Amino acid sequence: MEIACKIFIKGLVQGVGFRPFIFRLATETGIKGWVKNTNEGVEIFAQAENDGLNTFIHQIKLDHPVAAVINDIQSVPSTPAELTDFSIHGSENRSLEVTGIAPDIAVCEDCLADMEEQPSRKSYPFINCTNCGPRFSIIRDLPYDRKKTSMSVFPMCASCTKEYDDIRDRRFHAQPVACLHCGPTYKLHTEEKIYDGSTGQILLMVSDLLKKGKIIAMKGMGGYHMACDAFNEKAVKTLRERKKRDGKPFAVMFRDVESLKYYAHVSISEQHALHSWRRPIVIVKKRSRTNHPELSSSVSSGLNTIGAFLPYMPVHYLLFQVLSLPAIVLTSGNLSADPIVKDDDVAMEQLVTIADAVMSYNREIIHRTDDSVVRIMNSKEHLIRRSRGYVPTPIPVSLNTNGIIAFGAELSSCFGIGKGENVILSQYIGDLKTLDTYTYYEKEMTDFLHLFRMKPELLVCDMHPGYFSTKKATSFDPLPLMRVQHHHAHIASCMAEHGLDERVIGVAFDGTGLGSDGKIWGGEFLVCDLATFRRVLHFEYIALPGGDRAVEEPWRTAIAYLYRVYGKDFQSLPLPFLKTLDNGKILPIVNMIDVGINCPMVSSVGRLFDAVAAILNLCLESTFQAEAPMRLESIVGKNCKESYPFTIGKTIRVDEMIKEIVQDVMLGTGISFISAKFHNTILSVIFESVMLTAKKEQIKKVVLSGGVFQNKYLTENIQLQLKQSGMNAYFQEQVPANDGGIALGQLIVAAKRRTLVCV
Ligand code: ZN
Ligand code: ZN
Ligand code: FE
Repeated sequence: MEIACKIFIKGLVQGVGFRPFIFRLATETGIKGWVKNTNEGVEIFAQAENDGLNTFIHQIKLDHPVAAVINDIQSVPSTPAELTDFSIHGSENRSLEVTGIAPDIAVCEDCLADMEEQPSRKSYPFINCTNCGPRFSIIRDLPYDRKKTSMSVFPMCASCTKEYDDIRDRRFHAQPVACLHCGPTYKLHTEEKIYDGSTGQILLMVSDLLKKGKIIAMKGMGGYHMACDAFNEKAVKTLRERKKRDGKPFAVMFRDVESLKYYAHVSISEQHALHSWRRPIVIVKKRSRTNHPELSSSVSSGLNTIGAFLPYMPVHYLLFQVLSLPAIVLTSGNLSADPIVKDDDVAMEQLVTIADAVMSYNREIIHRTDDSVVRIMNSKEHLIRRSRGYVPTPIPVSLNTNGIIAFGAELSSCFGIGKGENVILSQYIGDLKTLDTYTYYEKEMTDFLHLFRMKPELLVCDMHPGYFSTKKATSFDPLPLMRVQHHHAHIASCMAEHGLDERVIGVAFDGTGLGSDGKIWGGEFLVCDLATFRRVLHFEYIALPGGDRAVEEPWRTAIAYLYRVYGKDFQSLPLPFLKTLDNGKILPIVNMIDVGINCPMVSSVGRLFDAVAAILNLCLESTFQAEAPMRLESIVGKNCKESYPFTIGKTIRVDEMIKEIVQDVMLGTGISFISAKFHNTILSVIFESVMLTAKKEQIKKVVLSGGVFQNKYLTENIQLQLKQSGMNAYFQEQVPANDGGIALGQLIVAAKRRTLVCV
């Protein structure tokens, strides 16, 4: 006897080839019924002999497409109907509940094969299928159908329509399906003229220009990239200058992982991340020597790492087919702090000042996405920048977050919205102090609220009144507004990721965040749960001469430490970095500290890294965020077990350490050794403080977050040490430990506090 049921599936099930998969599975296994997309997910009506239905549901869970994520699958009995086959029904727009939107997916192997052989798609750079291609970057609205994407202006040709309608085809219901006859095309704009010939011809020209040391703006998946020869020092330097003194390391796209291995050590986990369909930039360790032509030293700005990634758009593969170079710089197309350029008119106006030629295509990018960045630590993936390939995948949490908007922080900003027991985080947006970035933040927020059918009920922001995210929150609709302390948010973010809803020890180390005493925090030990926190220990405050200016000029913080330790005598210390400073610069800083004008008190570990980097004469001025700490990490020497003294009393004091570092410098000790010894000291501070607190408070779980934990040496070692002592340590993985993770923390704190108010 035939029975029937309705199956409701929630999760990331639209735009990832889910309906065609269900269709094929159903027809292969003799199931009758239908499948359709709804705003809630995917709904299936299935009818078969009893065993058939159970196997069907089992196989859905087992064999679903790679990029799909099933969060929930429910089946309820239904009445059998007069059916003869299985079909796909039109989409239905039915409630405020909404299903996930797929992130953009790297081109798949099958499509790469088709690009070689299929006549209508030979070398066609917009090839895609139900398993790959653009998604989030081209979507205007839900449900995910072609007419709601920026593919809507490209009517499908007869042969594409045939594939789109053919259930046995890999492109059955692939919304961005396109071919040489009907899809988007590339153009190359040079100073002299516009070329709109075949992609092959355009790429030959591009490859020629690259080899001549020219800079090309290339429209990518979520925005424009700037490309140049990664081996040509002059080209890389020119790119850096034209991007307006942007000192950040440039990402490098390698032809394949084999080419990368000549230049970097690539572990199995790193290789796995590089190859994943999300295709992030992976931070790998440079090889010190190679028999191959060296990458331009300006690429990594002197760091010992490379931000490497592999081709993910068909056009990247096509370019490497004609280009003899194994790697190109492929960095975001923008002027220093501005958001990545996504619109063609803006590219033609702004990027021509950087690029010698612009390669663009005629499909609109709806949502900007930067390349995501991951770092593998202790064999696990840790997001540093969460954007293309990850956003807008929801983060499942254990509390009801409905109606909550979290406005995030200010640097590396990102906001989040609550939907059921999920948090949907925006893509990485950037520094809100820049007007264009702030506009981007506002626009994405409006889009997210609409796209995810969000009805705001509760707002949550940082305690810092000066953050633009806070200003946005206070000027939003008059709704209840909560404020969450920055470092509590860091810890809560990590707790949310790991489903922790209990008392834990929190170690929050970062650059800056406003504390509840009005001072600047950043070296904090908390005892907290999701709703509340207590600050149990912190680094001793130090004056930060000039506030934000000291963040840009680490030498100022170095002076503050030296002045505290040595008094005015520090000026006669034979430290090379002091000699490089103009004498007239030092005294005003000392006076500033004495008078206490524009000298906020900070307990920040990020600033301590700054000070040490400056004392070592490694980085006196910072040209990009966290430059000094990154340089310090980059030189850490191997096999150093030593550490410097410190004291843990009411606060953590490191004056003795500063003294010994100064002595080491004066003795001519190598800076690699000093850096390792300094890192080991921070490790000991964390370890001892955590163990003290654990004993006193009877807590076994410790949660570590904040930008400092992007440091691989610290993170890997503290994880081992804590584990060996029987502690359970938790780090951020899916969400950045930097301020890109703040929104998740704010949101979960608000969700928790709301439950307490309701009870
Ligand atoms: Zn494909
Ligand atoms: Zn076509
Ligand atoms: Fe922070």
